[in-house]
Amino acid sequence: MKIKFQSFASGSSGNCYYLGTEKEGILVDAGIGVRTIKKNLREIGLELEQIRGVLVTHDHADHIKSIPPLGNKYFIPVYTTELIYEGINRNKCIHEALSPANVRYISKEKPFTLAGLRITAFPIPHDATESVGYFVESPVGNFCFLTDIGTITPTAESYIDRTSYLILEANYDEEMLRMGPYPEYLKKRIASGTGHLSNQASIGYLLQAMAARLPEAGGRLSPLRHVWLCHLSRENNHPQLLEKTLELSFREKGLEVGRDLQVTVLKRTSPSGLYEISRNG
Ligand SMILES: [Zn+2]
Ligand SMILES: [Zn+2]
Repeated sequence: MKIKFQSFASGSSGNCYYLGTEKEGILVDAGIGVRTIKKNLREIGLELEQIRGVLVTHDHADHIKSIPPLGNKYFIPVYTTELIYEGINRNKCIHEALSPANVRYISKEKPFTLAGLRITAFPIPHDATESVGYFVESPVGNFCFLTDIGTITPTAESYIDRTSYLILEANYDEEMLRMGPYPEYLKKRIASGTGHLSNQASIGYLLQAMAARLPEAGGRLSPLRHVWLCHLSRENNHPQLLEKTLELSFREKGLEVGRDLQVTVLKRTSPSGLYEISRNG
């Protein structure tokens, strides 16, 4: 049994991920066009009809652009909280209202099963109507989606503790944001606890999560096998800069990216590689 994971796009121009088997699966967010979603699915041997549901993290346009057509026209069940649903239909960037007929309301921290995956939404701090992270238990290990998160809360951490495959935001380099073109109010918003996670905060957190997994720390947590850094800003970040910062921060602790932890920086507007994960891979 293999679980496939692929990012179709990640960043403020649109977010969308696939997770599932070769037969069926789910999407997390749909902030890119339906045609692009179909094309990306087809490239990994799947059709839209094999998508059992789309999970929504929050109601910002870069995560929900195609949610209404996926629900209304393609009858893909949309899994979201009541508040996020209301937020989607209030969003001025969304041209078509999402009919409640294809919405499946979920509650935070109440697990449900979809496409053979056990899914739990949990609250995360970000300045949308409401924002959730998703913890997904699969036969090959647990995944956690944390995109658009101002700070890692104890709740988020309790899910990461049980995660082997982590999708974590690394939105901006702190220096680039400070020196960059954004107006002061926007810089403050992004850097706040309900904004986005910086490269430095994200890497700092990873190092902490790795230390917590050392045998001398008790060894009770799930081994961290692969981390995908997501939602990079176009204006305030650069993939190479993030990779360099990551490498240096790891080296300072005597660690090496690739040897001690697999880390992949996700592309903003093009698909990542396809990851096929089996039980011990
Ligand atoms: Zn976003
Ligand atoms: Zn957002």
